[in-house]
Amino acid sequence: MSQRVVVEPRILDRLVEALRVRGYRVLGPTVRDGAIVYDDLESAGDLPIGWTDRQDGGSYRLERRADDARFGYAVGPHSWKRFLFPPRVRLWRASRNGDGAPAVEEEPLDETPLAFIGVRSCELHAIEIQDRVFVGGTYVDRDYAARREGAFLVAVNCHEPGDTCFCTSMGTGPEVRSGYDLALTELLDGEHRFLVEAGTDRGEEVLAELAGRAAVDADLAAKAASVEAAAGRMGRTMETFDIRDLLARNLEHPRWDDVARRCLTCGNCTLVCPTCFCSAVEDETDLSGAEAERWRVWDNCFSVDYSYIHGGSVRPSGRSRYRQWMTHKLGTWFDQFGSSGCVGCGRCITWCPVGIDITEEVAAIRATEGARAPLA
Ligand code: SF4
Ligand code: SF4
Repeated sequence: MSQRVVVEPRILDRLVEALRVRGYRVLGPTVRDGAIVYDDLESAGDLPIGWTDRQDGGSYRLERRADDARFGYAVGPHSWKRFLFPPRVRLWRASRNGDGAPAVEEEPLDETPLAFIGVRSCELHAIEIQDRVFVGGTYVDRDYAARREGAFLVAVNCHEPGDTCFCTSMGTGPEVRSGYDLALTELLDGEHRFLVEAGTDRGEEVLAELAGRAAVDADLAAKAASVEAAAGRMGRTMETFDIRDLLARNLEHPRWDDVARRCLTCGNCTLVCPTCFCSAVEDETDLSGAEAERWRVWDNCFSVDYSYIHGGSVRPSGRSRYRQWMTHKLGTWFDQFGSSGCVGCGRCITWCPVGIDITEEVAAIRATEGARAPLA
């Protein structure tokens, strides 16, 4: 059985240091611009100590907690995909030689090993989903593979789910079960402490450097109680039974018109989603035509150009674009990748400027299955 050790909060500094001396770029949650985002950590002092987030449809704000919890929040606008699949990556650059012939130089891979601290269970599932998309099929994305290779994952059992979270419905949380190197459980009852468990050999090695005591039954019972309490405090639920076929049977449901009247087609829901993976390429040249670059940039279902084929967009209306996003995420993703494309993190609800709620949209279609739009 893997080691289970209990450490004081100050020992998290030693964890950051142990990863840094191994050459990792250490990334984790920190407070910036009124939100908890993922960024480089110099030390554990950069964690959002004593902060929590309050979330609802179209609403997010930070508040002080009554304690010094390091992971006392749900999730922020960032997900780990911004480091594994960055919003903008140069693919190659080209320049003309003296004789005018073009020389193309492929962008070197960024092979700096990454360590993520504070990965929630829903996020581990999201990374697993993106692994299937980018490296699990016939064609491997070399940029993603280089960033993902060797990434060290320090997971955290969620003890503060947000009002827009529904990972329990999706079977993706709140308890961390696999896919991590180290798993932390922040225990706030009585003495503030962390239960640390290793999931891999390299996790065991790092754990051996953290000064702590062996976990006892009371620590394990406190972990179980914390996870159970979190599971009982999810802000949202989604009924997933038959969901793929439910959506496939209701492609002409009037609810798509209803949501289209509210949707701004801004694409925020896809940008914050930890599993959305669509991208486009952009070419740039200088005015003389001597230098050119090709960039890969995030794109999404809500951009008209993304479905532009032979002189027009396949999805010209907001109705068709929202329907594409939701039916892919919750339905045809199963056909393509063998799982749902949603892990129930709730970001698309919180960061939708008009508060469109994917759980509410599914429930509305389920409650009125087979409805038809009234004849004009
Ligand atoms: S669809 Fe929404 S709730 Fe589901 S994983 Fe994406 S952002 Fe999270
Ligand atoms: S559902 Fe909300 S976040 Fe998504 S495109 Fe529409 S308005 Fe933007």
